[in-house]
Amino acid sequence: MHDRFAKAIAERKALGRYRELRAIEPGPPGFVRRDGRDLLDLSSNDYLGLARHPLLAERAADHARRLGTGARASRLVSGTLETHRAIEARLAQFKGMGRALLFASGWQANAALFPALLKLEPDAAIFGDWLIHASIHHGISAARTRHHGYRHNDLDHLEQLLNEHGAKAPARIIVTESVFSMDGDRADLAELVALARKHDALLVVDEAHATGVLGTGGGGLTADLDHKPDIVMGTFSKALGGFGAYIAASGEICDYLINASSGFIYTTAPPPPVLGAMDAALDLVPGMDGERAHVLAMANRLREGLCDAGYETGPSDTQIVPVMIGSEADALASSAALEEAGILGVAIRPPTVPEGESRIRFSLSAVHGAAQVDRVIEVMRGLR
Ligand code: PMP
Repeated sequence: MHDRFAKAIAERKALGRYRELRAIEPGPPGFVRRDGRDLLDLSSNDYLGLARHPLLAERAADHARRLGTGARASRLVSGTLETHRAIEARLAQFKGMGRALLFASGWQANAALFPALLKLEPDAAIFGDWLIHASIHHGISAARTRHHGYRHNDLDHLEQLLNEHGAKAPARIIVTESVFSMDGDRADLAELVALARKHDALLVVDEAHATGVLGTGGGGLTADLDHKPDIVMGTFSKALGGFGAYIAASGEICDYLINASSGFIYTTAPPPPVLGAMDAALDLVPGMDGERAHVLAMANRLREGLCDAGYETGPSDTQIVPVMIGSEADALASSAALEEAGILGVAIRPPTVPEGESRIRFSLSAVHGAAQVDRVIEVMRGLR
């Protein structure tokens, strides 16, 4: 086994796919510091600028002082604090769902959900958008069932697959993101809910990138639907400025997950400081309409400027602005040139996105201003 590590690393290096961790330090709002330089940061998911908000920091510190730094045990053993339950109740209300359950991270929530669902019906068929997140793929693989991927946002293709493969399966599960992480476009959730009902399928929606930014009160795109998906997942690690995640569903589904989801049962409960930051974010986010409008306006400004400069930014109309470059080498070169000019815009490459679709993924935050966006456009114009 030992020699295989070196071989795997060498193979990645030969393909230009070897990645290294590079550290940053927080800089002034909207910037990060790297190698002694402040870089305008268009690379984070801190869409509302909450990750360094004083109320979150104070509440986290207060929870640590009063309740400790660790939850001491898993939820079912003796790790459930009243604070877990209070935050879960607030989350259920925030998302307009019957109940909510906290998970250690969004990755873990998705990885844990599908194996638990498939225990109910091992032959269920899953239908997922081609662009669903790696954590959902992981959950589906761990569930060891048939996965029929449908073309991105192509609901005719989904229906065709439901007719072909869904009808003969004992149960069906459809899964999508509401805002796609690397493309920034939206799923048609009302249509998906209708399709799920028509085909008697369970609908799972990942709201990682919509929560906090879109929907009434920042409740995400599912918050405004008349008919909700069956299961909505989201995370505190992006617009909510913290860490940890949740699954919101009916009381019955949540009760089942408490009893059947390995990723919920066999892990230590989210710790008090993390709960404190969650609590403060839930206080602030519903009232941040101004920040939501601002971040989306900044994203529009960036998109318009980039399109005017001849770039392709795809169908996004959210705070995520992908700039399609094509080859990995060109995307890396663009990212390096941006960094040289004082801007952090990371290259996203396969396997995160399909081959030939490497890009710069710009993500805006409410702390960014028009002059900063215009600077990015100017630099990108110079790279053409
Ligand atoms: N789902 C999606 C769509 C994501 O983009 C991410 C984060 N990259 C996750 C889930 C995982 O969330 P977390 O970072 O909280 O583990």
